[in-house]
Amino acid sequence: MIPHVGIDLGTTFSCVSFLDENGIPVIIRSSDGQQTTPSVIWYDGKVAYVGKKANDRKLQVNSPIYEFIKRDIGKKVAHRYVINGWDFGACGMSAVILKKLKMEAFYHFKKKGWLSPDDTIQNLIIPAVITVPAYFGSKERHETKLAGNAAGFEVIAIINEPTAAALTYGFNLSDSKKILVFDLGGGTFDVTILQIGNGEAKAIASDGADQLGGKDWDAIIENYLFAEFERQTQNEIPDDMSWELQKQALESKYQLSENPEASIFLNASGSNAEITLYREREEDDFAFYGDGLSALDEDNKFYFEERSENLLTLCKAIMHSMLEKAKLTWNDIDDIVLAGGSSRMPMIPKMLENISGKAIRRNIPGYNFDTAVSQGAALYGRNTNRVIDISSKSIGIEVKQAGKPIIEHLIKKNTPLPFRITDTFPAEENAVLLVYEGESTNPVDCILRGRLELGNPSGQVIVGLAIDISGVIYATVEANGAKAQLKIKSDDDDIDFKELKEKIDLIDIRL
Ligand code: AMP
Repeated sequence: MIPHVGIDLGTTFSCVSFLDENGIPVIIRSSDGQQTTPSVIWYDGKVAYVGKKANDRKLQVNSPIYEFIKRDIGKKVAHRYVINGWDFGACGMSAVILKKLKMEAFYHFKKKGWLSPDDTIQNLIIPAVITVPAYFGSKERHETKLAGNAAGFEVIAIINEPTAAALTYGFNLSDSKKILVFDLGGGTFDVTILQIGNGEAKAIASDGADQLGGKDWDAIIENYLFAEFERQTQNEIPDDMSWELQKQALESKYQLSENPEASIFLNASGSNAEITLYREREEDDFAFYGDGLSALDEDNKFYFEERSENLLTLCKAIMHSMLEKAKLTWNDIDDIVLAGGSSRMPMIPKMLENISGKAIRRNIPGYNFDTAVSQGAALYGRNTNRVIDISSKSIGIEVKQAGKPIIEHLIKKNTPLPFRITDTFPAEENAVLLVYEGESTNPVDCILRGRLELGNPSGQVIVGLAIDISGVIYATVEANGAKAQLKIKSDDDDIDFKELKEKIDLIDIRL
């Protein structure tokens, strides 16, 4: 029997692991020798490369490099993702990344001697738990599951990334604790509170933002580099140097996580500029300023932490609102756990210590930022009935109130999963069942997840809504004695799974 795998399908990095005979999560290293695989695809016209090899190509302008794919999942993408001449959405591209991870797992298991001679990459179906940001709605989860299936996995469950990180941190603690997981990745921010320990876990509340992550911190540095280069040289940085600029910005962000300052040398349009970035304003800087350092020089200095203030305020606001809704205060939280690469920026634990009044452990033995989510997913696979996750969004149906359409929520956000409910409504002529996801009672502010024409039912209509352990919604309608299943479909682009699978099978991925 091959073990199931736990997959962190990240915006910037992905990771795959499995549980060994002792129940310890083991990371499957990529063929490049790394624990994680950049979620980047490069298609050279014949062959697709996923991970480091694709990432290394980024500096070659005009190469079709695809990244941050996860930001588009569940959405209709405006730009094109093309491989083998086929247009893919983010679901298809995620399947390409997952297929590469499956290949790594396949070769790892083969080396261990766990496969039979008949097993091939194509025909071996590997059971998998895949993680997604907690704020992901039903459609994003559904598409992630489809991507997993198209890549040749049997998807046991889709679980929330902070829940997975929490499992790695605390599943085997000897006493139960209330922990808050602060998960700031490359493109997304999630925060979740869980009760965990003694081999059990239960999520209590979660919230987040789908367009907030390391990329936004990168942009702060990039914008400064653009402006400062122009100020120093009176020249603009040309468009074809934007990759270089992004790379330098990223490198200096990493440096600022380790050092109080980072220096960059930029050469463009025949001019040079040396630009220094500072992590934070030192006491001395204030003193200097007071001693008459020109206001202009001081204004131009780049203090990363100060310039990130708006982003930090957003994180704080999301946490406050979540605590308030869960009727908890910081005093109720025993531990704060950091997850996601961007939590490595020193300003993150500093901000958390300031608002919570709690010391944050930066180095927890056995807990690695980059791999904790994937390891937790592997742990979940063997403990499905000892972990309770929650719904990240409220789900409701449209009803009329005084002639006005409003949403009646049948499943509330933060409901333990799985869950099902039925409700009865009087029949109307030309009735249509509309299922929405979102917190507002105004349909305009929510996302339509499914639509079913009911015709002219008589008597009563019984609506059933269910949400499975992966957070995927199902709806049924019973009217005139007949039952119909409502397909929760993508807004207007339905994914044909069979066709997707055939295409993914045909894509030649080079390790
Ligand atoms: P994740 O999606 O969890 O893999 O997080 C990736 C994000 O974390 C990217 O935006 C990275 O630039 C960022 N990141 C990773 N390591 C560091 C670090 N040492 N300092 C600052 N940001 C980092």
